Amino acid sequence: MPAAPDPSGERRQQAAERRGETFPRRGAIVRPQKNPIEWRVNVTQLGSANGRALDGTDAAALSAGETEGRRQIVAFFDFLRREVPGFDRSYIVDIPPQIGIRETRRIEGLYQLSGEDVLSCASFPDTIGVNGWPLEKHVAGDVEWDWPDIPGSRGFNHLPYRMLIPQEVDNLLVAGRCASMTHEGQSAARVSGACFVMGEAAGTAAHLALAASQNPADIVVNDLQAALEKNGVYLGKDVQ
Ligand SMILES: Cc1cc2nc3c(=O)[nH]c(=O)nc-3n(C[C@H](O)[C@H](O)[C@H](O)COP(=O)(O)OP(=O)(O)OC[C@H]3O[C@@H](n4cnc5c(N)ncnc54)[C@H](O)[C@@H]3O)c2cc1C
Repeated sequence: MPAAPDPSGERRQQAAERRGETFPRRGAIVRPQKNPIEWRVNVTQLGSANGRALDGTDAAALSAGETEGRRQIVAFFDFLRREVPGFDRSYIVDIPPQIGIRETRRIEGLYQLSGEDVLSCASFPDTIGVNGWPLEKHVAGDVEWDWPDIPGSRGFNHLPYRMLIPQEVDNLLVAGRCASMTHEGQSAARVSGACFVMGEAAGTAAHLALAASQNPADIVVNDLQAALEKNGVYLGKDVQ
């Protein structure tokens, strides 16, 4: 099995400096997989020519990102083979079929989950489940983390049903990374765990709304919570 590359990126930085190369992201996540000959590499970071985040609503920006992402993959792979013991005869098994954008359009809902809600482990009467991920802010060249006080707090926030309900469009529920959140709130609750929670709640709420011939905004939240709990969802009401 190859030796683990330095995840701090220091070795990469030194190697890059020697050759006058630059890598857009300082840290690299290089992890072994279940199959002992496979390693997962999470290392690219994409941005616009003006230094801002890539605009996921702009087709030309997405195309440019696809090309730049592949360029970064080849450059980092070249570094791995050249500089990291055990990787000299490695080869690429797979790369993502499509560019992934963490943050693009979001709705403005009846409630907007904020970074402060995440850091203060906020409670909401209309909880549909919990988020336990901290603020994960992807800034130019790096990833910054902000955590709730642990163990001084319970370490998770409620996700309110209202963040799935658009302010101005009836009969629509929006779950996942485009639900109603601020930039900072979304940096936490866009991760898969919170997206699962929102998806489960949106599906259940849609069923209740249809069964009662109601708009999703008007369903009885207690009924939604009871149905979710019955199906095993943790609403996070037992810990303050
Ligand atoms: C690069 C990157 C790395 C990430 N790393 C992590 C991580 O390590 N851990 C983590 O927890 N989260 C991670 N995330 C965040 C997380 O993966 C996403 O925020 C989350 O998957 C979003 O879920 P979603 O259901 O909102 O959207 P998606 O998972 O994008 O699901 C939307 C689905 O809708 C489909 N779709 C779109 N349009 C249509 C249509 N018209 N008709 C039918 N289907 C359609 C799409 O094909 C897609 O399958 C990462 C995100 C990115 C971009």
